[in-house]
Amino acid sequence: MAGKKIAVLSGKGGTGKTLVAVNLAAAAKNSCYVDCDVEAPDGKLFFRPEIAETKEVCVLVPRIDLSECTACKVCVEFCRFHALAFGKKPVVFDEVCHSCGGCALVCPQKAIKETARIVGMIEKGVSEGVQTFCGSMNMGEATGVSVIRQLMDSVKNETRLTVIDCPPGSACSVMESIREADYCVLVAEPTVFGAHNLAMVYELALLFKKPCGVVLNKCGDGNNPSREFCLQNGIGILAEIPFDSALGKLNSEGKIAVRVDYPKKELFFALLARVREAAE
Ligand code: SF4
Ligand code: SF4
Repeated sequence: MAGKKIAVLSGKGGTGKTLVAVNLAAAAKNSCYVDCDVEAPDGKLFFRPEIAETKEVCVLVPRIDLSECTACKVCVEFCRFHALAFGKKPVVFDEVCHSCGGCALVCPQKAIKETARIVGMIEKGVSEGVQTFCGSMNMGEATGVSVIRQLMDSVKNETRLTVIDCPPGSACSVMESIREADYCVLVAEPTVFGAHNLAMVYELALLFKKPCGVVLNKCGDGNNPSREFCLQNGIGILAEIPFDSALGKLNSEGKIAVRVDYPKKELFFALLARVREAAE
């Protein structure tokens, strides 16, 4: 039976999404951690995994044989992603191409062939029983979706609990990361801006019909607009992590709270129990 997949999201970077994701995976011990934040893959800085396998991620992009091309523009008109432009002959913009293969199919001269292009990399490793799957996209790439798709393929049949560390925001890369998730954990800061970002990812979870709960991070004594948002919308609060300089220091040193002598680490074990229960 497939294990549950838990996606950890936040509306922007710096909210504590990776803090929550790595601690959930480490607390579960025999689990998988998937770092889909392929633009800033810092999960491995925490897990420091022993790397077992490295794999390049390739996509297919069109190559045009200009000696066969009659400049009919059919391919340019076909491409909905504007990855083909026309001067005297068609030109391909690799970074914008979505590898749909359509231009090669519609070319009446069969002048377009697809070739592989490397866009990123996946590293599989292990760290104290946690299987890690970390993706990174090459510099200059417009999207990390292909890398994320391959990452998620790697854990498709996993029987262990899988924690997905999503990219921040609510763009296509986040959608790709939560597609297979059974449950979403939304991490939010206690500010008006934080509540606004929470609303964005909550909307995304609703759109994908994913059950979800919220972790309020950096909580203090004052007002918490993100908590108010949860109360107004009937969203369950899974945990409130206090604003704590000791936890901040651990995080900046790349240490995982549940693996070291952190006095409040029970908080993460309790969160894991609540998430497991909610995801059933
Ligand atoms: S493969 Fe698809 S996205 Fe890429 S250039 Fe051709 S039609 Fe456009
Ligand atoms: S569809 Fe084929 S022949 Fe027409 S412009 Fe594109 S590459 Fe050239």
